[in-house]
This record gives sequence, structure tokens and C-alpha cells, in this order.
Amino acid sequence: MQPLTNRVKEVDRKPMTLGEKIYLPAVLKGMSITFKHMFKKRPTINYPEQTRQFSPVFRGLHVLNRDEEGRERCTACGLCAVACPAEAITMEAAERKPGEENLYREEKYAAKYEINMLRCIFCGLCEEACPKDAIYLSETFTPSDYARKNFIYGKKDLLIPDPKTQPEEFAKARGEKK
Ligand code: SF4
Ligand code: SF4
Repeated sequence: MQPLTNRVKEVDRKPMTLGEKIYLPAVLKGMSITFKHMFKKRPTINYPEQTRQFSPVFRGLHVLNRDEEGRERCTACGLCAVACPAEAITMEAAERKPGEENLYREEKYAAKYEINMLRCIFCGLCEEACPKDAIYLSETFTPSDYARKNFIYGKKDLLIPDPKTQPEEFAKARGEKK
């Protein structure tokens, strides 16, 4: 049959030599490659005992921020949800009641705030969209899990520790303390 292109190659159907039939040279060649790698520097690390240096632009797990008085910063404006290309954020707003000024910074707050980590692509657009410095992406990985429902992170998973009652945990979550 006439080939359509000139890329056709003839298949070499020469009979195998004795060396090729016993496969020994090929086995030795393969083993020499394996042994050479034993003396090379390992590209892998023993995670989690060892960790790599993060890139300065690394974006990890989200944190809902508080102000220096421990009040929740989020005002449930919804801008992060609108900016999210993966539609991973949902929230329910509520009105602050008298006496709750020490809990919520603004008159409106997020009674419910959820991020679906299975949808999130860690682009950071929610952080950029937020006018209240209420959400940022930390240097922490999202932990692995077996159940999909456990990847819906609510306020209890996202909210940063209170700087007044847990100053060390607060500083650690902000990356100020290792
Ligand atoms: S990091 Fe990107 S994808 Fe993830 S919740 Fe924020 S805006 Fe959505
Ligand atoms: S995290 Fe920021 S952008 Fe998102 S609802 Fe709260 S205040 Fe608005």
C-alpha cells in the first residue's frame, strides 16, 4: 500500500543474537543504572519529619481573621464568594445584636461561612476581593481525609484563634511564630 507520508520506517526483523536471547547483558545494563542511582543525592525528603521551604507565593488553607481585640472581621458582604471562580464559598449573614460588639467587628457578620475545599483551586482571589482583611490563605495544607463531607470547612475550622485568650495559637496561625 502507498504510504501517505514519508515517515514510514522499516521494521528490523533480524533474528536475535545469543546475547539478546539470554537477556543477561540487558539485565546487567538495567542493574547498573539502578546502582548508579544509589549514589546520587535523593530528590525526595522524609515528609512530615522534613519539610520543604515554601515559596513566598504559596497559598494554603484559608483562615478567617479576627482583629486585635479578637472580634470577627468578616461582615458577610459576599465579595469573596462572587470573586471565587470555583464557587466554593457560601455564607449566611446575620445582624449583630446589642452586647455582641465584642464578638463581631461590623454590624453584619457571617453566621455561617463555608468553603468547599474539594472545589477550591487555591487561587487567592477571595483574599484579594475581601475589603475587611477577613480572609487569607495560610501556609498550611488542607489535611487529607476519607470522607468528602469533611472537606466542607465551616467557621469552626476556619476561624483564627482568639488573640486575647489564645495569643500563641493566634500568632502561629498568622505565621508570626513557628
Ligand atoms: S482560593 Fe480561589 S477557589 Fe479557593 S475559595 Fe478562594 S477564590 Fe475560591
Ligand atoms: S471574607 Fe471578606 S469578602 Fe468574604 S464575606 Fe467576609 S468580609 Fe466579605
